[in-house]
Amino acid sequence: VMLSLRLPRVFTINQVPKVFHEDSIISGYRHPRSSATDCILSLFQLTNETLNIWTHFLPTWYFLWKLVSVVLIQTAWQDSFTWPLLMFLLSCCIYPLASSCAHTFSSMSARARHICFFFDYGALSFYSLGSAISYSAYVFPDKWVNGVFHQCYVPIAVFNTVICTSIACYSRLGLPYWQYNHDTIKRFPECQSPKFSKYLRVFAFAYPYLFDHIPLFYRVFLCVGEGCTDNDTNILHYYHIALALLTGFLFATHLPERLAPGSFDYIGHSHQLFHVCGILGTHFQMKAIEQDMVTRRPWLLEHSIPITFSHSLGAALLCVVVNLIIILLYSLPLRSAPACQEKKHDKQPKKTSAKVHRCC
Ligand SMILES: [Zn+2]
Repeated sequence: VMLSLRLPRVFTINQVPKVFHEDSIISGYRHPRSSATDCILSLFQLTNETLNIWTHFLPTWYFLWKLVSVVLIQTAWQDSFTWPLLMFLLSCCIYPLASSCAHTFSSMSARARHICFFFDYGALSFYSLGSAISYSAYVFPDKWVNGVFHQCYVPIAVFNTVICTSIACYSRLGLPYWQYNHDTIKRFPECQSPKFSKYLRVFAFAYPYLFDHIPLFYRVFLCVGEGCTDNDTNILHYYHIALALLTGFLFATHLPERLAPGSFDYIGHSHQLFHVCGILGTHFQMKAIEQDMVTRRPWLLEHSIPITFSHSLGAALLCVVVNLIIILLYSLPLRSAPACQEKKHDKQPKKTSAKVHRCC
């Protein structure tokens, strides 16, 4: 049965164009011009992307189940107090889904790979806004509720998604039309200085995370005395923060495969661990947000800024529209890119790789 399925073969790092290379991963690469069917088949074949896909595909269903149960059981639509939770849960469904799709279809072509990860970055930005919307509604320490920072917090978070999606997309190819278009590529930041490109991306994700967490860090690490909201939920927030630190560490260091290139190609490389820690962190973050929402509800309803459309659904909607426009701007110049593309669905990618190397 296995033989009759004829699973597509996998390649080593030297057989695929540079744009597909992953740091310290030597084998298990899919064909750089895979068909969509081959990409989907690769979910059931062990390649270096298989566990990257599953570690975000399964959690998508877990968060979707959470979202649906909140909508149906708590009839959330009638109660504006739960809207921020809904936006957070929606963002928790979208980012793993976008990521698993990006990892699935990223081996169709160099263009497809860039576009896939543009969407992945946009989804991560949306998740940072989902966190900010729910923190504004349920997590702000008593002391800061209704203050100037609280009033500006969600609008700044919306603005941050624009900055961060733009920077993350920029880190791959530079500016659309200016530095690359369908036939000329003047500069590829990722090829010319992969380190700088990596720093840009770390900044693009760390910055909104740190901004979103200013009120929480103040609440759990700095605040003393009255109005610090020192409750049972803090322990859940600690778990989430610890896992977020570990997630960032794995992304930045590429451990463990850095220590033994080629040994973790299929199982156990940093990107898989990064996905798992990220999801576990999101799980504890969700638990913490839910618990703060339930226990602080009466106090917040009385003292906090009222939860309006513009501070929840409206902000999320604006973020989606603006970020889709950004992704479109970065993707459009690639739509008919023949420049760096191999011609056919060639079973032997080695032949074309030299040509592709030059423009990445
Ligand atoms: Zn990923």
